[in-house]
Amino acid sequence: MSKQTLNFQAEVAQLLHLVTHSLYSNKEIFLRELISNASDACDKLRFEALDQASLYEDAPNLEVRVAFDKDARTLTITDNGIGMSQAEAVEHLGTIAKSGTKDFMGRLSGDQKKDAQLIGQFGVGFYSGFIVADRITVESRRAGLPAAEGVRWVSAGTGDFEVETIERAARGTSVILHLREDATEYLSHWKLQQIIGKYSDHISLPILMQKETWDAEKSEYVTQDEWEAVNSASALWTRPKKDISGEQYVEFYKVISYDQEAPLAWSHNRVEGSTEYTQLLYIPAKAPADLWNRDRKAGIKLYVKRVFIMDEADALMPAYLRWVKGVVDSADLPLNVSRELLQESRDVKAIREGNTRRVLAMLEDLARKDKAPETAEGQDGVTDVVSEEDKAEQAQDAGKYTAFYAEFGAALKEGLGEDFANREKLAKLLRFASTQSDAVSVSFADYKARMKDGQKAIYYITADTLAAAKNSPQLELFRKKGIEVLLMTDRVDEWALSFLPEFDGTPLQSVAKGAVDLGELQDEDEKKAAEQAAESFKPVLEKLKASLKDKAKDVRVTTRLVDSPACLVVEDGDYSTQLARLLKSAGQ
Ligand code: ADP
Ligand code: MG
Repeated sequence: MSKQTLNFQAEVAQLLHLVTHSLYSNKEIFLRELISNASDACDKLRFEALDQASLYEDAPNLEVRVAFDKDARTLTITDNGIGMSQAEAVEHLGTIAKSGTKDFMGRLSGDQKKDAQLIGQFGVGFYSGFIVADRITVESRRAGLPAAEGVRWVSAGTGDFEVETIERAARGTSVILHLREDATEYLSHWKLQQIIGKYSDHISLPILMQKETWDAEKSEYVTQDEWEAVNSASALWTRPKKDISGEQYVEFYKVISYDQEAPLAWSHNRVEGSTEYTQLLYIPAKAPADLWNRDRKAGIKLYVKRVFIMDEADALMPAYLRWVKGVVDSADLPLNVSRELLQESRDVKAIREGNTRRVLAMLEDLARKDKAPETAEGQDGVTDVVSEEDKAEQAQDAGKYTAFYAEFGAALKEGLGEDFANREKLAKLLRFASTQSDAVSVSFADYKARMKDGQKAIYYITADTLAAAKNSPQLELFRKKGIEVLLMTDRVDEWALSFLPEFDGTPLQSVAKGAVDLGELQDEDEKKAAEQAAESFKPVLEKLKASLKDKAKDVRVTTRLVDSPACLVVEDGDYSTQLARLLKSAGQ
């Protein structure tokens, strides 16, 4: 192929314009992005070589090299991974395929400052290079292709790029950044090593740099021929917990999740037994915009014996925990496992159950520490005896569960219908507003502890909004009697609660369903009055029934109202008005 000039896809041109016309608080993320691509390329080679070992050619040790040339003002990142054919270079570097980048594009506000900040948080993959370079040259050869079929790709990050055929002996890719005037700081061993340590330490390949030694005569550092690894070169989850700092866990989370915020909690374990695997699971702080998309994939990456197999491994997490991010590395699954095979595997089932247990345990822990230590009292009013260390930890985690619940509580409720085995655990994790608390903070256990003598059920009402729930005429009698009622306003509440007939032996009862029998809490006099009223209003009821024939199943005298003249109720076992609306809006 002789030299060809091609245009970028319109979206790329738009993105590049933004990248090159903004100033950044953290330019340095470009290196994270390029090293991550180099590492992905090595993962891809390792994966393809499972079936075709010859792809390794004569270089079986996968690695990334970072080198700079002060005189030429270039910074070069070289990998010996899968490489790109000419067609692949045109396609992969000329269009945007990455969903993370598309997501980023969708969030652009037009405000240059805000958008620039977004780039730093998301990273925009390969194009991040143009933050520091006014020209990028990529030279590559795909593993398995002859040396004569190498490709050179060059662009100044404006509307177009050039491609041509080159001779390239080495398999893999070199990305050569021609640094801008204001990016001279990256022509420094110390600076590069620092950035690699911050963002790329967890990369499982060695990242090599040339050694530098102090030359006293010239009184400057000189570059040696010898290369040395500047990262730990072992995947983060394969290292012992005690060797990993909190900051490293957080950075790793940001890399795998494309989330800029630190996670609320994580759990890292090696599970041994009949199924062996390592799990590193994170609870994000914020729900993604598409949490409610039914097709949203799980956030778990699957590795088998440290070889990357797939992103979004749905089978490893139940759907209601689709927002959990992390990595599972299995010692048992075959390397060529497919999504179909995953669905059927017994090991996968065991891993999914183990993951679920672990996430619920993390949530239980956050829920336990949700209140600040000063106010942490046992239910019997006795303050728990806690060590200073526990107190400190608790203070740190105070409020996290409330924050978690506001983001993911509704998704968690889906579990009641989906995961019968963990229904009780899930029920304990639920929180609601109530007639005694505007904050969504009342657990079923809290409620039970406040039940009136003789109260036989946990009462709740469902409505579209908190205001509607609170003002419902159905609550009048409960208010008068001082009986707490849980106020449920999530769309899934009604459906979810249909799977939870009771909590810890106490039945759940909707105040909007059927006849409310308050049992012993109702005075004998009131009951008698109601019966009398029913008798004397019989003719009126008959008339009402006749005129509402098509609209109401039944009309009856009730004791549930105090001030309002009438209210609508549904039969026990029928869909409530809220659920009926939900089903209607779903087209059923
Ligand atoms: P992402 O890495 O999320 O796919 P990028 O913008 O970082 O998005 O990279 C775009 C694509 O370019 C990659 O998916 C890959 O196909 C190709 N690519 C980039 N760098 C390399 C590399 N070092 N080796 C092989 N392919 C690469
Ligand atoms: Mg990338």
